[in-house]
Amino acid sequence: PPGLYIVATPIGNLGDITSRAAETLCQVDYILAEDKRVSAKLLAHVGAKAPMTAYHDHSDDKLRERILGDLGSKAVALISDAGTPLISDPGYKLVRAARQAGHAVHTLPGPCAAIAALTLAGLPTDRFLFLGFLPAKAKARADVIAEIASVRATLVLFESGPRLGDTLGVLAATLGDREVAVVRELTKLHEECVNGTLAELAVRYADVTPKGEIVIVVAPPLKSEGASSAEIDAALDEALTRLS
Ligand code: SAM
Repeated sequence: PPGLYIVATPIGNLGDITSRAAETLCQVDYILAEDKRVSAKLLAHVGAKAPMTAYHDHSDDKLRERILGDLGSKAVALISDAGTPLISDPGYKLVRAARQAGHAVHTLPGPCAAIAALTLAGLPTDRFLFLGFLPAKAKARADVIAEIASVRATLVLFESGPRLGDTLGVLAATLGDREVAVVRELTKLHEECVNGTLAELAVRYADVTPKGEIVIVVAPPLKSEGASSAEIDAALDEALTRLS
């Protein structure tokens, strides 16, 4: 049926494509992709022959209008280079416009690096804040970190190898020495999860630039370190004993 299909694709292991995603990619009239060369491999893997069009949220309004014009009569899939579209990837403007125009929008969930990293890190998962990529400029980056310093949630961030050490250092300076996991190359041959404290891993990655794709998962701040009333009573008792 016509409409927009948001299709999650693997983040490194082609085996992670869902059967629904593969079927849909084979059935749609055309596929919106970030980079046609990157997606060609996946489409060949599932046997999808539909034509591809390059789409970014900063694609001009004319292209978006053309796509919206098609959605009443055609099935159109949106994919990213890897993972779930719209999550630090294009699509938000298109989904919004499609919904506002009353078109059918369907989502086909699947791999997402942020969620996969969270499941591997061994840090609390009940509350988390996804920060995407921090801004590149030092001042803007420091502002974002200061803004979220008191949030009682696990933090999930995307980062590149060359900036990893620096980012861990800035996080350590502002957030204190929390636990952290550096998760690399998820679902690929060299998948790795390195746990430590922010300060430890900032040192470890200061001069080493790890290869591949990286997600940083930072533990929430420790609960207020105020003493419990039992501890206060015990301390009072001890002081009174010493006085008497
Ligand atoms: N929409 C994608 C998703 O749902 O996974 C994320 C897109 S974002 C442009 C790409 C970033 O995701 C990378 O720079 C890296 O931080 C993270 N990433 C993607 N694939 C990864 C993998 N296999 N292992 C670790 N991190 C990955």
